Amino acid sequence: MSSHGAGADGSLACDRMVPLSVLLKRELRGEKIEKPDILHGVASQSKKGEDFTLIKTECQRVPGNGGTTFSVFAIFDGHNGCAAAIYAKENLLHNILSAVPSDLDRDEWFAALPRALVAGFVKTDKDFQDKGKTSGTTVTFVILDGQTVTVASVGDSRCILESAEGSLYLLSADHRLDDNEEEVERITACGAEVGRLNLAGGAEVGPLRCWPGGLCLSRSIGDMDVGEFIVPIPHVKQVKLSYAGGRLIIASDGVWDALSFESAVNFCCGLPADVAANKIVKKAVQVKGLRDDTTCIVVDILPPENIPSDILTPKKQRMRVLEYMLCKKPCESSFHRSREYCGPYVVEELFEDGSALLAQRLNIYPISNMFKLFLCAVCQAEMKPGEGISLHAGSVKSGKICPWDGPLLCRSCLAKKEAMEGKRPSRI
Ligand SMILES: [Zn+2]
Repeated sequence: MSSHGAGADGSLACDRMVPLSVLLKRELRGEKIEKPDILHGVASQSKKGEDFTLIKTECQRVPGNGGTTFSVFAIFDGHNGCAAAIYAKENLLHNILSAVPSDLDRDEWFAALPRALVAGFVKTDKDFQDKGKTSGTTVTFVILDGQTVTVASVGDSRCILESAEGSLYLLSADHRLDDNEEEVERITACGAEVGRLNLAGGAEVGPLRCWPGGLCLSRSIGDMDVGEFIVPIPHVKQVKLSYAGGRLIIASDGVWDALSFESAVNFCCGLPADVAANKIVKKAVQVKGLRDDTTCIVVDILPPENIPSDILTPKKQRMRVLEYMLCKKPCESSFHRSREYCGPYVVEELFEDGSALLAQRLNIYPISNMFKLFLCAVCQAEMKPGEGISLHAGSVKSGKICPWDGPLLCRSCLAKKEAMEGKRPSRI
């Protein structure tokens, strides 16, 4: 695999120019820009027709208020058919936003997103399974609001961030069984068997798969024929870019099986987002052939107009190191940890949690009043007083649980939770 775009000395001249169209748009608006301008491009080559994208650049946190605009970029890579990918594309965003309490201010909205993403993913999975259709999908779901990027992921489509000075950050998780020992341990503990295909004579071939079903991923939406231990609970990571902005590359495994993170970034360095997405897909297909659906979204987050230009002067020394900002175990979660140094290019990490335990993921209270007591924390169904079951019921400390100890689940979502934890058989 080769890397392109680098000069002989390894330096890369990638200063991102603000395109004329954006400058004209700013001129027409005649207003001070607080949020960054966003440019995006998408490209895809289809082999099985199971990759889908969702791009919405004009969502509003407060309906009717143009100052609360945010964008959504997502890739759904289906397997065993495309029904799950299409269903998730059509329903996931709504399910996530339905789980965000109303009347939050902007900081509260950022803090509420990790939990709402978990609820939205689980509800979407549960509703899709209720339809009785097979098939499953990976999801890499990016919410971009100002300089804050929140990424929720299940499966092996990935999202990387190139910060303004050239550092790379992986913002999604990898839920391939071959690459994730902790997930292998989790699903084995739930009663699944993990192994490779056995040929006659005992030779093992192909990737690690879980049985029954033979899926090589540990998390997805759908896949009711595989088992509830394949959970839809997403890894969630939230970071805040500096005003200098950056570039996101979101792509399905068709790209990442052919290109390293570094070579994908270097290969489209300095190109506009739409050209960059096209080049990445073409290069991936050139390297590996069109063996899988190959999809890429490139999003450029440009510096706002009113930022002093000295802040935006690129560093001379570009770093090309993939930084895993928070290499913590999935069972740990963190809010608002700061990095050790500060500077105009710092990508600040705000949140990360990859646990597969629903109780842990819904039990996050970064601010008060994050849940409504008589709504199911997953499906948001209204419940009568006394009807909901505390997430903590059945836990070690359950003796001290009061009936009003939220968050609460409806009976149906409690059954889903227990099935995902291997405590009751899945519905197959
Ligand atoms: Zn529910």
